[in-house]
Formats: sequence, structure tokens, C-alpha cells
Amino acid sequence: MSPQHRRPRTKEEIYEELYESILEEMNVGDTPSAFDNALKQFDRAAAVLNLTENQIAVIKEPRRVTQVKLPVRMDDGRIEIFDGYRVQHNTARGPAKGGVRFHPQVNLDEVKALAFWMTYKCAVVGIPMGGGKGGVVVDPRKLSYGELERLARRYFAELIDLFGPDKDIPAPDVNTNPQVMAWFMDTYSMHFQNFIPAVVTGKPLELGGSAGRNQATAQGMIYCVHRATGHFKMNLANSTVAIQGFGNAGSFAAKLLAQDGCKIVAISDIEGAFVNMEDGIDPNHAIEHVQKVGTLRDYDQNSTAKKMDNPLELLELPVDILIPAALENQITQDNAGRIQAKIVAECANGPCTPEADDILEEKGTFIIPDILCNAGGVTVSYLEWVQNRMGYYWSEERIQHDLKTIMENAFQFVLQTSLQYKVPMRTAAFIVGIQRVAKAAELRGLYA
Ligand code: NAD
Repeated sequence: MSPQHRRPRTKEEIYEELYESILEEMNVGDTPSAFDNALKQFDRAAAVLNLTENQIAVIKEPRRVTQVKLPVRMDDGRIEIFDGYRVQHNTARGPAKGGVRFHPQVNLDEVKALAFWMTYKCAVVGIPMGGGKGGVVVDPRKLSYGELERLARRYFAELIDLFGPDKDIPAPDVNTNPQVMAWFMDTYSMHFQNFIPAVVTGKPLELGGSAGRNQATAQGMIYCVHRATGHFKMNLANSTVAIQGFGNAGSFAAKLLAQDGCKIVAISDIEGAFVNMEDGIDPNHAIEHVQKVGTLRDYDQNSTAKKMDNPLELLELPVDILIPAALENQITQDNAGRIQAKIVAECANGPCTPEADDILEEKGTFIIPDILCNAGGVTVSYLEWVQNRMGYYWSEERIQHDLKTIMENAFQFVLQTSLQYKVPMRTAAFIVGIQRVAKAAELRGLYA
């Protein structure tokens, strides 16, 4: 880029960058590695299964890790370079499947962990797919609509050889949505001069998306929570719920749990946490606020909810059900002892560290682990992919029926495994997933 195209940074921008880099440095060492946590989870289940070194070698680490630089022309004419990643963790059971995250804190460690969890998530719910995940280091709130589109297209174009309906099929994740999937799909289709909707899932309905995909992650969680409360003979109606994260997973979770008669007492997003223990929060009202404002910013001024001084304290409220639906590493050894919920239903991937798991287990908290609890998203993504390949589309009733059957069977199987091996639900879910992936890898053998 020639120097005359480089806009001098303003004083505010320089201070902001400096501030962010100091914060980043302060966090070094404090933030647990998501991938290390994922590997610890694997080891706990592998120890129960007595896997051989050869079996572990083939299925534990990611098979392909790709890192790209993405030059994107900004509205003011500058070219900005973004870092992008795609990790294919394991494809023994089928093509890689997993979302693409746009977030300033995306890094390779995180993407590897997320791809790892996808492998075992697909196996736990019996979907014939493997694990993949992608990410771009960007705060999309700072991009214009046009910049976002150019970034999305460049990401897909740069990695086009990796993707394909039989190779690797992305989907939405944090800060990506059906519109971004439409751009991914169009980029791929234009490149091959063919209409190829099955290359991504989570598309808009008009472009081969599936009925029921938007709420699928939360709906899958609901089926798990129904089973869990049934198992403990707990009354779901009138249960109190706190939800961290109010995007796709969190906002639908709030809406669906409220429909079940639960009282949603606290919600949060990147702008803060809002609580009303007494009267609860109306999710539909909060969703309307987000539709207008873009986030929960100033929600306390538009409702009877109060803004919490420390948003992380939402996790520690005296509620029956806690739903982490934001990012990894939210419940750690530092705050796990203060968690009061009876059930933690993980809509987010990796919200609890292994150390937190141990503390919660000791306290008798029932965790519905991410690779089971939030598998509704990938389940309906799979149903979308099947419909795309047939060119024939099912009704919402059909999708709901299949999702319910798949999630309830998976929950029951993991619960039985947990009781059989006397291990927590997370280790049980990994036992189920690892057995299936290891068997597929063994049957395929080694090529050449
Ligand atoms: P999203 O972008 O729609 O929403 C993310 C939400 O989290 C936003 O409300 C954001 O403001 C909030 N958030 C971000 N940082 C936060 C913080 N520090 N504290 C509180 N809130 C914060 O993303 P999503 O698709 O809902 O994904 C949320 C989680 O669910 C992620 O862990 C994702 O991997 C997982 N998940 C999503 C799907 C899916 O189908 N969308 C499927 C499975 C798992």
C-alpha cells in the first residue's frame, strides 16, 4: 500500500489501541487456553475408555489448520488486512462442519478448540459429519455493511479450496448471521458458476435455508432441559433463569423458556447485564429493544430491569437454571464456587473450564455440556444440508420432530453413559463421541 493511501491515525485511535494492548497484556496468563481445556476434557474421557496411543494420535489433534491474511478495501480507500482461520479437526465420520466467528478476540487456539468440540458434538448427536470451525479477527460493529460484505467474501474466496458440500460446510457463529452465509454461498456459487447452497448452512430461507434453523440451538437446549428437569423431578414452570449472551442462542433461549413458564430474571450482552429478580424480564420486550438499538445498551432505561455493576455476577445469581450463551471460559475456578444454579445448560461452547467443572460437580450442579446441549444448531444445519442436496424442503413440523427425536435420544444416551461409568455428563458425552469417532477412524484405516 502506498504511504499516501494510509490515513494518519487520530489521537483517540492511538489511545484506544494502546489501551487495548495494555488490557490484552494484563490478560496474558489469566485467560485459560480454550484448546488446552478441550484436550483436558478429551483426556478425562479417553482415560475411562483406555484408548491406545495410536487411537489417540489419530483423533485428538486437528487434521488441518489454515491461517490467511485477508486484504479488504475499506470505504475510505485504505486496504486493511484481517487475520482469518479455518481449522478442520477431524473428518473420519463425514465432511467438516462448524461455524465462522467474527470477533476481535478470535485466535488460533480458540478456533482449534471450537473445531475440536464440533467433531465430538456431531458424533454425540449421531450426525454424519466431522468438526471444523473458522474465525476472523474483527469487531464487525466497526465495519460498514459494505466492508462486512467484502470481508465475508474475501474470507470465503481465500479458503475456497477447503470448502465444499462434501468437504467442509460452514455455518453462523458469534457475530455472523444468515446474510453472511448468503455472501459465503454466493461467493462459492459464482466461483464455480453453479448454484451450490449445500456449501453453507444457516442461510436465509429464500436461499435454501431450513425452517427452524434460527431457533435450533436454543430449541435443542430446551429439549435437553426438559429431560434434565424430568430426571430430577423438578418443575420447569416457575423456574428462575439467568442468561449470559443475548444473541441468536441466548435470545431464543429466553423466549422459549419463558414460553415454558420460566421466569427470566437476568440477561446480558456485550453492553452489560440487566436483572429483575422480583418480576422477571419479558424476553420479547428485550428482543424488541435489541432490534431497535442493536444491543441491550440502556435496557435499564427502557424497562424495570436494573443494570448490574459487574456483569459477570449474573452467573452467580440465585437461580434454578443458568444459561451461558456467549463465549468460552466464563465459569472458572475463580467464580465456580459462587454459582448457585442447580442446572447449567451450556448454549455457548466451552463456557466452563475443567477446574470449574470439578468445583460444580462437587457442589452437585448438573451441567448439560455444550457438545450435547447446543447441538440443536448443527442438527438442523445437517437437516438443511440434506434438504439442499435433495432440492426438496420439509415443513417446520418435520424439522421440529426430527430435532426433538435426535436431541432426546442423545440426552438419554449420554445420561445412561454417565450413570453407567459414574462420570459427570461432560465426560459421558465425550465417551459417547470419542467411541464413535475412534471407531470410524479405525474402520477407515490409514490411506497410503
Ligand atoms: P451471537 O453473535 O448471535 O450472540 C452472542 C451474544 O453474546 C451477543 O449478545 C453478545 O453481545 C454477547 N456477548 C459477547 N461477549 C459477551 C460477554 N463478555 N458477556 C456477555 N455477553 C457477551 O452468537 P450466538 O450464535 O448466539 O453464539 C453464542 C454462543 O453459542 C457461542 O459460544 C457459540 O459458539 C454458541 N453456539 C451457537 C450456535 C448457533 O447456532 N448460533 C450453535 C452452537 C453453539
